[in-house]
Amino acid sequence: MTLGKIIDGKAFAAKVQEKVGAGVAKFVEKAGRKPGLAVVLVGEDPASAVYVRSKAKMTVQLGMESFEYKRPANIGQDELMELVEELNGDPRVDGILVQLPLPKHLDEQAVVNAINPDKDVDGLTPISTGRLALGLPGLVPCTPLGSLMLLKDQLGDLTGKTAVVIGRSILVGKPMAQLLLGENCTVTIAHSRTKDLASVVHAADIVVAAVGRPEMVKGDWIKPGATVIDVGINRVPAAEEGKTKLVGDVATAEALAHAAAITPVPGGVGPMTIAVLMRNTLYAAHLREGLPAPEGL
Ligand code: NDP
Repeated sequence: MTLGKIIDGKAFAAKVQEKVGAGVAKFVEKAGRKPGLAVVLVGEDPASAVYVRSKAKMTVQLGMESFEYKRPANIGQDELMELVEELNGDPRVDGILVQLPLPKHLDEQAVVNAINPDKDVDGLTPISTGRLALGLPGLVPCTPLGSLMLLKDQLGDLTGKTAVVIGRSILVGKPMAQLLLGENCTVTIAHSRTKDLASVVHAADIVVAAVGRPEMVKGDWIKPGATVIDVGINRVPAAEEGKTKLVGDVATAEALAHAAAITPVPGGVGPMTIAVLMRNTLYAAHLREGLPAPEGL
């Protein structure tokens, strides 16, 4: 039995970053300024703080400007909305990312809706969502776009392939399905009410799992030769007492006996998410300067 291939998301993300870095240098020549990404962090959530730090670090590494706005957990809705408005009008800022989730007392959707869609590097505003649905150019959520890049790198043209996306969130499942549809796949979206998920998955050439349930997708659900993108990030107890480890939504070891290729967790989709955020910032900067979209990204 030949085992499937493990897709090296880290290596592919490094290539994307390299292209973004080269694109930034060209942008600076043309526009006479650096692209800028503003990240808003509300509260002290340690995981969010780590994400924000790594995003800021990579922004600077790739030659862009990073603006960090840390605000206390008890910030009021009006004050946060004012900050977003300020960033909408700030000429140095091409991309605005409000780190989610926000503390419970804040209306998250209202904050996201206030972001100028042309600066919406997370692709979560209704305008960005609508542009994606209409097949118009625009900013697309980073994780699904990164997943699509990995798929195209593995498979080339996706036309005519059957794809199952498990999960229908605004952040991952729905935009992923739209992107696959845009690539001429025949797309099924599965969710918690789907009946006989195993059979639904077994029909697919491409499986994207974005559920948040550790190793829920079993190996024998996978159609022989399918390509599997495991978006899930789940922390579970490790063999060593008191320790934890990260696993995806797919039982990777089992799935490798059936799949042609699969992304690991960690080291698959995760690194792509941040690389695409950098790509989106560069893309937004081009948009704002009226320049054609950067090539090869
Ligand atoms: P959500 O919780 O918003 O959505 C989960 C989806 O899974 C829902 O649509 C839900 O269905 C569906 N679901 C839940 N249980 C089942 C089930 N038993 N069978 C089938 N479908 C089910 O999660 P997200 O989309 O935000 O994230 C999904 C996963 O991806 C998480 O593990 C998250 O940590 C990870 N993630 C990883 C990123 C990365 O960079 N790699 C970035 C973003 C997320 P229903 O709608 O019916 O409730």
